[in-house]
Amino acid sequence: MLPLVALVGRPNVGKSTLFNALTRTRDALVHDQPGVTRDRHYGVCRIDDGRPFALVDTGGIADGGVHLVAGDLAGATARQARAGAEEADLVLFVVDGREGPSAVDDEILAWLRRAAKPVFLVVNKTDGIDSRAALAEFARYGFKDMLAVSSAHRQGIDDLVSAVRARL
Ligand code: GDP
Ligand code: MG
Repeated sequence: MLPLVALVGRPNVGKSTLFNALTRTRDALVHDQPGVTRDRHYGVCRIDDGRPFALVDTGGIADGGVHLVAGDLAGATARQARAGAEEADLVLFVVDGREGPSAVDDEILAWLRRAAKPVFLVVNKTDGIDSRAALAEFARYGFKDMLAVSSAHRQGIDDLVSAVRARL
């Protein structure tokens, strides 16, 4: 069985875009409206000749387009995201490098810590901005393992794949 990597993060940070960049598919729905991904999507990353790994794109929002807000982590999709995280060998915690840390990110971080899974922080949407400054905004999260990427522009994706493989 392939090792499993879960993409976890609040709606609209670019999880599905990252899923597509890693699997080179358009399987995951990408939408301007937050929370378009309601189900878990599975795919396989086969970039280069390295060892493939499986990916799960977890949803981040409740059914019916109700936005996930701080305090709603007991909601249906949050449970689904948790389930995705719990079965994974490694979690990619995806955040928005343009917006910086939010209250929902803080909450997701808290339950990821409780889940005691290996977690790698992916600071997405760093195209056209200072990626070092974007990473620095998340310094208080205390991750040694973090990378700035642009899923939409495929920047940093190969480095991310190498980093993931090194941790599986
Ligand atoms: P999800 O809800 O976390 O799955 O987020 P999506 O993958 O659906 O992306 C939400 C929005 O962010 C879409 O409009 C994407 O085009 C945009 N987006 C995703 N990744 C990037 C990125 O690397 N850079 C920029 N500028 N926009 C991005
Ligand atoms: Mg999505």
